[in-house]
Amino acid sequence: MGRERRVRLAILGSGPAGYTAAIYAARANLAPLLIQGLQPGGQLAITTEVENFPGFPEPILGPELMERMAEQARRCGAELVADVAVAVELRERPFRIVLDGGDRVFCDALIIATGAQARWLGLPSEARFRGFGVSGCATCDGFFFRNKPVAVVGGGNTAVEEALFLARLCSKVFLVHRRDSLRAEKVLQQRLFAEPKIEPVWNHVVEEIVGTEEPRAVTGVRLRDLRSGAVRELAVEGLFVAIGHDPATALFKNQLDMDEQGYIVTAPGSTRTSVPGVFAAGDVQDKWYRQAVTAAGTGCMAALEADRWLAEQGSA
Ligand code: NAP
Repeated sequence: MGRERRVRLAILGSGPAGYTAAIYAARANLAPLLIQGLQPGGQLAITTEVENFPGFPEPILGPELMERMAEQARRCGAELVADVAVAVELRERPFRIVLDGGDRVFCDALIIATGAQARWLGLPSEARFRGFGVSGCATCDGFFFRNKPVAVVGGGNTAVEEALFLARLCSKVFLVHRRDSLRAEKVLQQRLFAEPKIEPVWNHVVEEIVGTEEPRAVTGVRLRDLRSGAVRELAVEGLFVAIGHDPATALFKNQLDMDEQGYIVTAPGSTRTSVPGVFAAGDVQDKWYRQAVTAAGTGCMAALEADRWLAEQGSA
């Protein structure tokens, strides 16, 4: 039988949104309890160098940045718990969270910062080269491929935006798509087709990523033509996989308003969800920016809003 805990504020998730919420909430004397989840540090814990987080003129490794955020949250007075939420009940207050280890947490307010996961192609070579030429974020990693040829996989808004972003940096950008038309908005398509550095490769899928081991680096991608079955290799030094993200919201299904892709809906300019006292920050409610710094920003907003809400309830 696990323990029962009662806290004023619980935070689910340990990416930049969760840790920033914990720092602000701890400094507001809310003594927050942060449940770290399956992958402490979130998506940044599995990236390599981060060059775009302000305050770090030299690149910092993603796992180190996240460890520093965790340390800062602890130092400010947040309690971090290495456990995973397996059930959440938001229909009654206090809200209830059941942890994998058997503990139950009751909280007056909850900040959901469970993030989203990039979808990957699922190739073994993709996992081997992730962080060494294979990336899920052009804004984060495009800079490392200046004046080099790269490929983007996908046909949605993200793939097209990433291709346009990369065209400003890279020598050549191939957009590899499994069909012969894009699902991206027309205005983005027009921009894409007007960009001479971008070459669409229609009706093709990536079969394998090829490269060297020492140093570990991508030298090309093997493509298969879905109509003819022909296989050919494209010489690129980077592959950006932009085939969508899955927000980690299964626990909140039928309890919170979500959009058709499962992202938590928050009130405009706020982190408030459809349940009073429940706030959502970071990628779990943001499919547009998906940056560490924007996640941190919404984490701060969520803590400030939770603090205000608890005060209004007479709980803070
Ligand atoms: P998305 O719209 O779901 O598009 C995913 C793309 O990846 C599709 O073209 C899909 O091909 C392809 N794909 C999926 N699985 C694949 C696989 N295994 N192998 C090869 N290709 C695969 O995802 P998204 O582009 O990330 O956008 C997500 C949401 O965010 C959308 O609602 C989008 O509008 C929004 N968003 C908007 C903006 C903007 O408006 N500026 C920017 C970014 C994102 P098919 O087309 O054949 O299905």
